[in-house]
Amino acid sequence: MTPPDDKPIVLDLKDVACSYEAGSPAVEGISLSARKGDVICLLGPSGCGKTTTLRAIAGFEPVSSGEIRLNGTIISATNRHVPPERRRVGMVFQDYALFPHLTVRDNVGFGLTHATTNNRRGRIDEMLSLTGLSELARRYPHSLSGGQQQRAALARALAPQPMLLLLDEPFSNLDPDTTQRMRLELLHLLKTTQTTAVLVTHDHEEAFAMADYVAVLNNGKLEQFSTPETMYHLPVSPFVAEFVGQADFIPGTIRDSVVVTQLGTFELPQVYRGGPEVVVMIRPDDVHIRENGDGDGTVESRQFRGSEIIYGIRLGSGDFVHSSEVSTRFFPLDAKVELEVIATHTVLFDRKAWKP
Ligand code: ADP
Ligand code: MG
Repeated sequence: MTPPDDKPIVLDLKDVACSYEAGSPAVEGISLSARKGDVICLLGPSGCGKTTTLRAIAGFEPVSSGEIRLNGTIISATNRHVPPERRRVGMVFQDYALFPHLTVRDNVGFGLTHATTNNRRGRIDEMLSLTGLSELARRYPHSLSGGQQQRAALARALAPQPMLLLLDEPFSNLDPDTTQRMRLELLHLLKTTQTTAVLVTHDHEEAFAMADYVAVLNNGKLEQFSTPETMYHLPVSPFVAEFVGQADFIPGTIRDSVVVTQLGTFELPQVYRGGPEVVVMIRPDDVHIRENGDGDGTVESRQFRGSEIIYGIRLGSGDFVHSSEVSTRFFPLDAKVELEVIATHTVLFDRKAWKP
């Protein structure tokens, strides 16, 4: 699974498995890669194996099968394990793990043991300035805000010029406003320094906002590795479809070259290989309530979200779908409505293999 691009591949995982107990892998069959300057997000629910995968890349966990390469060199395999300190991989931990007895300046310089004094000073100044911490260089971590601590952790991780930066849920200790700001700041910093990064998150909005490529993990396995756009519009499984946004599913039947459903007919996707009885994925942004319509749909719920309203609509068949409307379009609860679906992509799953 290699992103189609001409930048060199920095990180390459092939069929990686890690086991805490022999015979029951916490993650397995993980194959993905990152090119120079790419941000990859590992996305999935708690316990799916994100941290384990990140720790394997950092060298804190050995692999039980498969291999990990950094700039073409094997750093992890069953018969090879380069120790973490020799990988040139930087890490930002969830709690930042700054040294409490060192100033910001000394925290940032901590990994620069091999540099000459002048180079060291220059590099620290550069990192402090890049992360906006120059004024706070003499402070100790306890006197910094959450956002400032995160910047200090980032500056420390980036100072030794790692080939790869790893971040495990870096925003989980910040309030929502600071999180929004730090996401943009971090992305700007990664892109200006052309740093290749792997970021762990359980939040699809965060993954979509940050990532060039997203890897969705479920139960220790990689379900999909693709751009955020492909993941949203062409999820490969019902799990991915639901994990990356609101998704509803209605039954359909393939006849000739279209899919027939209660909400109209859809073009067949090129990739579908299953049987004729299908389930069609519908996103709220594809469902439109017709003006003056009087159909067999009933408005059952309404969520005001500021710029949009999400309506929940019970169809005559008993199936349920959501419709996203601009917030000026108001329909009362229990209103009878007619729906129109305009989907840019048709996503089908075989009903025989369907597990709701
Ligand atoms: P995530 O970061 O996605 O929440 P983890 O990688 O931490 O998931 O965990 C994946 C699985 O491995 C879970 O079932 C978890 O219980 C298990 N696990 C994680 N760390 C250890 C450990 N040190 N010893 C045993 N099992 C572990
Ligand atoms: Mg974790």
